[in-house]
Amino acid sequence: MAYLREIITDGHPTLRKVAKKVKPDEIADPLFQQLIDDMFATMYAAPGIGLAAPQINVSKRIFTIDLQDEEDDHGPFVVINPKYELTDGEIESTEGCLSVPGYVGEITRFERVAVSGLDREGKRIRLEGDGLFARCLQHEIDHLNGLLYIDRVKNLREATTEDEHEALEEASTLP
Ligand code: ZN
Repeated sequence: MAYLREIITDGHPTLRKVAKKVKPDEIADPLFQQLIDDMFATMYAAPGIGLAAPQINVSKRIFTIDLQDEEDDHGPFVVINPKYELTDGEIESTEGCLSVPGYVGEITRFERVAVSGLDREGKRIRLEGDGLFARCLQHEIDHLNGLLYIDRVKNLREATTEDEHEALEEASTLP
C-alpha cells in the first residue's frame, strides 16, 4: 500500500538542505521500501516525471523518475545515493518544478549525463541519456543538494502555454 505524501514548496527549509546519504543497510528496511512506494505514488499523482525525497520533506539522497514514455528505457527508476559518472555538452531549455508551482523559466544544463547509484534492492545501477531524461536526472540531483532551478533561472514567469504547463511536471519541455 502506497500513500500520497505532501509535496513541500519553495520556502520550506528542507528543500535547502543537503540531503543525507542513505546507508546501504537501510535500503532493505520496510520503512525505507515504503518511502520508495510513497514517492512513486506521489510523483504519479502530482503528476510528475521525477521526484526527490526532500520534496516530500525527507532529507535523504534518493529520487524517483519515470518519463512515462513506452519507446525508450526511461523508467520507472529509483536511484539512491546518485553520483555523476559523465557530464557532457550544454543545452538551454524550459523547466518547472513541483515545488515551485505555476512557474517556468529557462535554465542551462548538461546535454548528456550518466549517473550511477543503487536501486531499491541495493544493487548498483547506471543511467545514461540526453534530452529530457538527462535534464530530469540533473534536476533531481540538484534537489538532493538543496538547489532549485529558480536559483539560476532566466526569464522566470507564470506558466501559460501548453508546453509551459508540461514543464511543471518537473524538469523540462523538449526543445
Ligand atoms: Zn523539482
